[in-house]
Amino acid sequence: MAKMMTEFSLIQRYFSRHSSTAELLSVGDDAAMLTPPLGHQLLACTDTLVAGRHFPLNTHPHAIGWKSVAVNLSDIAAMGGTAHSILLALSLPQIDEPWLQHFSDGLYACCEQFGVKLIGGDTTQSPQLSIGISALGFVPQGQGIPRSGAQVGDLIVLSGTVGDAAYALAQLKHQPDSAQQPLRHRLDYPTPRCTLGQQLAGIASSMIDVSDGLAQDLNHILTASKVGAVIELDHLPLSATLQHLPESEKWQYALCGGDDYELCFTISPQHYYALRAQPLPVNIQVIGQIQAQAGLQLLHAGSALDTSVQNLYLNGYQHFA
Ligand code: ADP
Ligand code: MG
Repeated sequence: MAKMMTEFSLIQRYFSRHSSTAELLSVGDDAAMLTPPLGHQLLACTDTLVAGRHFPLNTHPHAIGWKSVAVNLSDIAAMGGTAHSILLALSLPQIDEPWLQHFSDGLYACCEQFGVKLIGGDTTQSPQLSIGISALGFVPQGQGIPRSGAQVGDLIVLSGTVGDAAYALAQLKHQPDSAQQPLRHRLDYPTPRCTLGQQLAGIASSMIDVSDGLAQDLNHILTASKVGAVIELDHLPLSATLQHLPESEKWQYALCGGDDYELCFTISPQHYYALRAQPLPVNIQVIGQIQAQAGLQLLHAGSALDTSVQNLYLNGYQHFA
C-alpha cells in the first residue's frame, strides 16, 4: 500500500505496544528478528479471518481481535508447541478509529493472556475486512506432535466441551439480536488450550485442534495415521446447554460443529494414566480408541449405531448451518 502518514501513525498508535528488546527486534524494522531457544524447532502457521465468513458481521471488534489470535495459538498448541509471537496482515476497508481501538485491545488481551508478542505485520486498504495472522512457536527438538502418529490401541482424548460454538452460531442466525445467549462467548472468545498442548509434547502420539468439527478433524488424524477409530457418544463432553438438547441434535453439534478450538489427541494408555496424575489446566475426557479397521465407528451405550443413523449424525451439519 502507498505509505501515507495515516498508515504509519495507525501502526504506531494501535499495533506497537510490544517494543523491541535486545533479543527481539519487533514492529518498526523491515523484519522481526528473534533468537530460537537452543534445542528447539520452529513452528509456523497462519490463518485468515474474513468478515461474514469466519465471524458474524455483528461480532464486536474486541472479540474479532481476540479470536484472530486465539485460532492461531490453537494451531501451535495442537503441535505441542509454545507460542512465541504473531504477525498481523490487516486489510481494512477504511480507517475506523473506535473499531481499531477495540480490535487492538482484543488482540493484545489474547497475546497477554498467553505470553505472546505482536512482532510485525502489514496494513493495507481493501474493500473487505480481512485479518491474517501468522503465529510462531517453539517445541523441543523431536517432540512436536504430528497428525500421523496415532497407533492402534491408543486412547482418543478431547479437552473441554464440543459443539458449543456451532450451537451459538445457530442461535445467532435465529435471533440475531441475542448477544447475551449463554454460549456466545464460546464462539467469540475461544480459549486456545496452550498449556495442555505444551504438556502433551513428546507424550501424545497425534493431535489436532477442533476447528472444523470433531468428526472431520479426527478423520484427518485417522487418514494421516492410516488407522480407524471407535467413539462412544455417551462419552462426548457436552456443556449443560447441549446436554439438554434432543439426542440427534446434540450429537450433530458435538460431532460436526466447528470453531470450538479444543484439542483432540491420541495417547497410549500408560501415558494417559501418567498425564491424569498431573494437574491439568482443563478437563479432558477419553471418548474412544484407535483401531486397525479403517473409518470412524460410532457407539451409543456400547452398541454400534445403524449406518443410516451414523451417517445422519456425521453429515448433519447442513441441518443447523
Ligand atoms: P515495509 O515497507 O518494510 O514492508 P511497513 O511499512 O509495511 O514496512 O511496516 C512497517 C513496520 O510496521 C514493520 O516492522 C511491520 O512489521 C510493522 N507493521 C505493519 N503493519 C502492522 C500491523 N498491522 N501490525 C503490526 N505490525 C505492523
Ligand atoms: Mg521494508
